Amino acid sequence: MQRMQRAKTAGELRRALAAGRTAGGLTALVPTMGALHEGHLSLIRAARTHGAERVVASIFVNPTQFGPGEDLDAYPRDLAGDMEKLRAAGADLVYTPAPEEMYPAGFATTVRVEGPAKAGLEDAFRPTHFDGVATVVAKLFARTGADMAVFGEKDWQQLQVVRRMTRDLDLPVRILAAPTVREADGLAMSSRNAYLTPEERRIAPGLHRALRAARAAILAGTPPEEACAGALETLKEAGFRPDYLTAREAETLAPAKDARVRPLRLLAAARLGKTRLIDNIAV
Ligand code: AMP
Repeated sequence: MQRMQRAKTAGELRRALAAGRTAGGLTALVPTMGALHEGHLSLIRAARTHGAERVVASIFVNPTQFGPGEDLDAYPRDLAGDMEKLRAAGADLVYTPAPEEMYPAGFATTVRVEGPAKAGLEDAFRPTHFDGVATVVAKLFARTGADMAVFGEKDWQQLQVVRRMTRDLDLPVRILAAPTVREADGLAMSSRNAYLTPEERRIAPGLHRALRAARAAILAGTPPEEACAGALETLKEAGFRPDYLTAREAETLAPAKDARVRPLRLLAAARLGKTRLIDNIAV
């Protein structure tokens, strides 16, 4: 494929991919909700690094992964800007289904995920979120027939949920992870950062700083629970309303009482004004 193509329906997607498939080579999928930033674009490049011949990006603000009262309607949308960025990043095809195209009348099946999806992290605050994510991701895998799919470590719990689902349902796709892309001051890039007021934007890197402080404390011998409690206090003092900041076994997301648990991951979510920020780091 030379010029970036756009598919709006499953049929258009199938036709665009069929042409490529006869040419051979691996197809990569990069699922997104649009309002693209450097973090998303790094996933396109990661797909190439892993040998993808064709990279398909999807842009779909998936209604089923938003709960009542969440920001579905307010979620930033910029299709023209996104297309330009994807083109510049070297995507071959962008899939932009409408909600009715993804969930036609009579749609009645949901993938129900447990294990890392019930770790008491995002799921405790967004109870239907990961079933919605898993369902749409499974559909995107089926519709693209991608050989590999790239997800960001930024959404660490989501990455573990997708990995678990792919294994459990024998989905023939390789899941690849790409590191979190950050602003110069450490704030993890996110489409939701656009909601922050200038004052909140100034405070926002405190989330990453708190995670780093907890990691430093753990590495210096402080028990994880104590280190996380300290970091939670720091967040509150800085003006955040934290939902959690916790140490977990990286893959299962089981609580890590002990600093010897390996690999260990620190995960946090906190509200700043009307914006909910999440972040995580390896220990
Ligand atoms: P979203 O559009 O927020 O659903 O994100 C789409 C994909 O981009 C997911 O796999 C995210 O984990 C990934 N992503 C979002 N922000 C970043 C970031 N700052 N660095 C790396 N990947 C990211």
